[in-house]
Amino acid sequence: MSDYKISTKCVQGGYTPGNGEPRQIPIIQSTTFKYATSEDMGKLFDLEASGYFYTRLQNPTNDMVAAKICDMEGGTAAMLTSSGQAANFYAIFNIANCGDHVVASSTIYGGTYNLFHVTMRKMGIDFTFVSPDCTEEELNAAFRLNTKAVFGETIANPALTVLDIEKFAKAAHSHGVPLIIDNTFATPVNCRPFEWGCDIVTHSTTKYMDGHGAGVGGCIVDSGKFDWMAHKEKFPGLTTPDDSYHGITYAEKFGQGGAFITKATAQLMRDFGSIQSPQNAFLLNLGLESLHVRMPRHCENALAVAQYLKANPKISFVTYPGLEGDKYYDLAQKYMPNGTCGVVSFGFKGGRGAAETFMKHLRLAAIETHVADARTCTLHPASATHRQMNDEELAAAGITPDLVRFSCGIEDAADLIADIEQALAQV
Ligand SMILES: *Cc1c(COP(=O)(O)O)cnc(C)c1O
Repeated sequence: MSDYKISTKCVQGGYTPGNGEPRQIPIIQSTTFKYATSEDMGKLFDLEASGYFYTRLQNPTNDMVAAKICDMEGGTAAMLTSSGQAANFYAIFNIANCGDHVVASSTIYGGTYNLFHVTMRKMGIDFTFVSPDCTEEELNAAFRLNTKAVFGETIANPALTVLDIEKFAKAAHSHGVPLIIDNTFATPVNCRPFEWGCDIVTHSTTKYMDGHGAGVGGCIVDSGKFDWMAHKEKFPGLTTPDDSYHGITYAEKFGQGGAFITKATAQLMRDFGSIQSPQNAFLLNLGLESLHVRMPRHCENALAVAQYLKANPKISFVTYPGLEGDKYYDLAQKYMPNGTCGVVSFGFKGGRGAAETFMKHLRLAAIETHVADARTCTLHPASATHRQMNDEELAAAGITPDLVRFSCGIEDAADLIADIEQALAQV
């Protein structure tokens, strides 16, 4: 599929049926797989042959869908996980262990920030958070001898900052470590980070990829471009023998293109078991089949909503990287010339009270913690996800008490604007 355009990959990637085989990908709803001899199975356990033996580690349906996402991103190997959280945890923990350090953008998704700052710190992995707008000098100063990776989001949820991928890739590579990017909000339809020097991509497939609010899931894709052997001493997990698999060395046995995902499957999936159910993988694939059609509509609607809000006298600010004049407009034009995402955030001249009144009167846009759904959904963080924080703490998190996050679906833009208009009339 690799020569086809992204739209064709969305529809047909990952699975090509043979003569008389099902047109749609089969759901292999089986925990286990049968073998004729113990020797056959033994080869799988030694990673000497490839095949399936237990769905805690791998399942054929999942692998077909992972292969499609791999193709869409332009990678060499990929795996599905049970959630975006699991994808980001595995991507980091596959190369950073107790005593190691990671440099991350400070505006990443709150769930990922908590995973890194609280939970992974308890595991002995340290993180330095840098502003995505930092200078090259500030970025380089964040590295230590034990730094193992750099992490950021193409478009941050919900801050909507755009990562200067080339700047972060250059710093990561000059320190001999890979750049890992969470590409959830842009999706490979709008941005393919591997084309700009990123080494590993993660996704919360729960968002646009599924697109219908049907299933939680995640994905990790390897570009196959990072040379682990050239930095042998930094990545012993990939470049020295694994005793739990009879002493195989992943980077030698599976090469630059396969080592990262094979290790994450063989060790992390085996031990943590955050596998996506094959049913959910099937639903995810249905979402992927129309991703290339939905993304432009999400972006079109978001731009129309952002432009409407920008011109409204009751609105104090509008943040949308696709809106001319936005702080990240130029970076968005460079990395995502065809569109960014469907999420817009804005504030009210009337402050917190105005935001609360506005939310109360919306009819079409639903109040949800979710984003990136076909149906428009919205959230007032100060009274929902961030309600335990006072105004000072909110400011530190980059959220003002009047901020509303508005995730434009794929309905008619005129209906979305009419809903906003009638709710604003009450403010
Ligand atoms: C939602 C989200 C996650 C977490 O994904 P889940 O599927 O909810 O576990 C990670 N990163 C980003 C950018 C997200 O939007």
